[in-house]
Amino acid sequence: MKFIVLLVVIFAVIWFARRGSRRVMGARREKTPLPPREDMVACSQCGLHLPRSEGLPGRGGVFCSEAHRAEFERTRK
Ligand SMILES: [Zn+2]
Repeated sequence: MKFIVLLVVIFAVIWFARRGSRRVMGARREKTPLPPREDMVACSQCGLHLPRSEGLPGRGGVFCSEAHRAEFERTRK
């Protein structure tokens, strides 16, 4: 029985700690708000969808990685 009480206390502490940290994270999120819906683009090489800001612009479109951009440009020459 003591063990269960201890378990409950531990859970309560964890819950309070998480609630506290979430509040800190929430405040941080307010300062740098993530765009709710960023434009998605597809990699011209593999078709992977990624946010426009993460895409690498190339001659043939947007790419998910340097390797795919290089591969695309090599095959389209
Ligand atoms: Zn790709």
